[in-house]
Amino acid sequence: MQVRTEGDDQVSLIVDEDRCIGIGQCELLEPEVFQLGDEDAISRVVDSAGLPRVRALEVVDRCPSSAISIAEPHGA
Ligand code: SF4
Repeated sequence: MQVRTEGDDQVSLIVDEDRCIGIGQCELLEPEVFQLGDEDAISRVVDSAGLPRVRALEVVDRCPSSAISIAEPHGA
């Protein structure tokens, strides 16, 4: 049986494109997950597999415009 500790569950992330100001902090932190658009410099999630929750919370916290949020599954 696999034992999970709090915070290691995998969560998906969402970028609110209207709030993103293109600083690129998320892409620096997790280049496999976020990519800024070549033309509009808006961040988009390119790997929907997500991140461990503790890391996701860190990335959410580091976004200067609060544009990143965790996509909670239905029923969570
Ligand atoms: S850190 Fe936030 S504001 Fe900066 S590019 Fe990523 S989503 Fe946009």
